[in-house]
Amino acid sequence: MSRFLSKNYEKLVPYVPGEQVNVKVIKLNTNESPFPPSPKVLEVLNSEVINKLNLYSDPELKELRSAIAEQFGVTPDMVFCGNGSDDVLAFAIMGFCGRGGSLACPEISYGFYPVYADIFGVDLEQIPLNDDFSVNVDDYIGKGKNIVIANPNAPTGLAFGVSEVEKIVASNPDNVVIIDEAYMAFCGMSCSELVKKYDNLLVVRTFSKSHSLAGLRVGFGIGSKELIADLNKLKFSFNPYNINTLSIKAASAAIADNEYYDDRISRIVATRERITAQLRELGFNCTDSKSNFIFASSDRINASELAAKLRERGILVRYFNKPKIDNYLRITVGADEDMDTLIKSINEILEEKK
Ligand code: PMP
Repeated sequence: MSRFLSKNYEKLVPYVPGEQVNVKVIKLNTNESPFPPSPKVLEVLNSEVINKLNLYSDPELKELRSAIAEQFGVTPDMVFCGNGSDDVLAFAIMGFCGRGGSLACPEISYGFYPVYADIFGVDLEQIPLNDDFSVNVDDYIGKGKNIVIANPNAPTGLAFGVSEVEKIVASNPDNVVIIDEAYMAFCGMSCSELVKKYDNLLVVRTFSKSHSLAGLRVGFGIGSKELIADLNKLKFSFNPYNINTLSIKAASAAIADNEYYDDRISRIVATRERITAQLRELGFNCTDSKSNFIFASSDRINASELAAKLRERGILVRYFNKPKIDNYLRITVGADEDMDTLIKSINEILEEKK
């Protein structure tokens, strides 16, 4: 730390992203898609677009917001786009909860929520999950605070239904409810329709997982025109060109290619179910994950030891050294052959321990 960092940020504990590596490994630690993006993405990233990079990107993001709006049956003024959904979450937490406002979130959830709460001076309440790791929806009914919940939740993978989301949103009319649907494509539902009925709901989605574009950094929020106008006011006060021209083009092409992505998503879901069943046969306790990762624990081997042994074999999975989940691994659903290698390796590791 230099002598110059503001005292306000001295105690900030940053979010720790999953490791990115250059050597050849089986990478099941950051919930990326095993599939390349749609070929339509490659088509639009052509020399015509590159030759226009001397110009700033469109700060209004008209093309991208229209493409997203069309998919979700809303108007473009109900769509806000960010540099990854992290950017959207940051603007939302800053704008609706910052400088002394409130926020409630599940105690075990996406690690960025407490970091944003801290950096933006938000009074955060972290609400414990049920013993089976499910979100206790009743805890959020009539809470009287702003709320952020990942649905499906991370790293548990568990989801709750649209009618339960509606109860939370309807019972907190004077607060913003942010539903982070980063993994919802793998669950096959969405509460985005509710934004037409409730002006206090913001649904956040990302291109990073379902659309194989984690490296592109595009996410978006869907909400009432007024909420979206607020987010744009903040964005135009901070970084108007938050999405670059190549990302705008690529994401706009990707979101329209339902045929390609529906197929890849259903393949990931099929692999998730197959591998979950195999892990359960090996005695693992796996949550009923509705996302593109599996959350698993075994009585036969400690999770940190298993993560280390898999790493020795070139397989990266995510281990969180945190209370209540420190005997669990979060394993991204990768390519079928990689998942077969994972199961084979786990079998061997368990045999060695006998
Ligand atoms: N929400 C959740 C629950 C996540 O797990 C992630 C991925 N780390 C994000 C949001 C952010 O994803 P991105 O910024 O790539 O859109």
